[in-house]
Amino acid sequence: PANRSYLIGGNWKCNTTTSSALSLVSTLNSSGPIPTNCTVVVGVPYPYLSLVRSSLRSDIELAAQDCAHSSKMGAFTGEVNVEQLKDVGCTWVILGHSERRTGFGGDAGETSDLIAGKTLTAVGAGLKVMLCVGETLEERESGKTLAVVKSQLDPVVKVLKASDWGSVAIAYEPVWAIGTGKTATPEMAQETHAEIRSYISTVLGSAVAAKIQIQYGGSMKAANCKALLAQPDIDGGLIGGASLKPEFADVFRGMM
Ligand code: PEP
Repeated sequence: PANRSYLIGGNWKCNTTTSSALSLVSTLNSSGPIPTNCTVVVGVPYPYLSLVRSSLRSDIELAAQDCAHSSKMGAFTGEVNVEQLKDVGCTWVILGHSERRTGFGGDAGETSDLIAGKTLTAVGAGLKVMLCVGETLEERESGKTLAVVKSQLDPVVKVLKASDWGSVAIAYEPVWAIGTGKTATPEMAQETHAEIRSYISTVLGSAVAAKIQIQYGGSMKAANCKALLAQPDIDGGLIGGASLKPEFADVFRGMM
């Protein structure tokens, strides 16, 4: 992807226990060198962040899967803030995942404005962000893909300074492809990635657009990653299901 390097993120979601987390760590620790053109990050549930950081090879970075909107300590029951994430060794945070946007288990979903605020807080604290955007099947079929993605990006564009974008990667994750086994075709994904890059160029300028990494997410795995990652505007992946399997290492090893 031009002069950009790859960003391969694993999103463990609400999976793993102490023993399964340690077993994933041990697989990653013995999975050989990370290609020099590639950053690998694993998104780990809060309770295991410290454990994973202390046992995982140091050339794989650590992400949380969310953070509090405020960086303050205090009476915010259930929240985890960016200072705490840095304290346990996170260098990244995944924000705006569709599972958080849509709400789950009866919770209210996160709005794009809230996600923009979290992005500002995370970047301000020196964390890097994988900012997830993407449309539902209904939205794609009614031709609204770009409009939806713009509406998710716009609030972030409003709050960040141009220089903050050096700490942000955009994860384009069509909701219909997440956890469904349905991958966007490489051509389909490339088309949307190119549109997102061109939109970023319009609102933030060509230098930011040329630099920003745009990851694809949605049923990416060892068997389909090569064709996706060969597209000029696909700069990596955010991988859910397959990041819980040994094949996660095949995704970055394949890029040697
Ligand atoms: C994700 O959770 O970001 C994701 C893309 O999941 P999966 O790879 O399982 O589709």
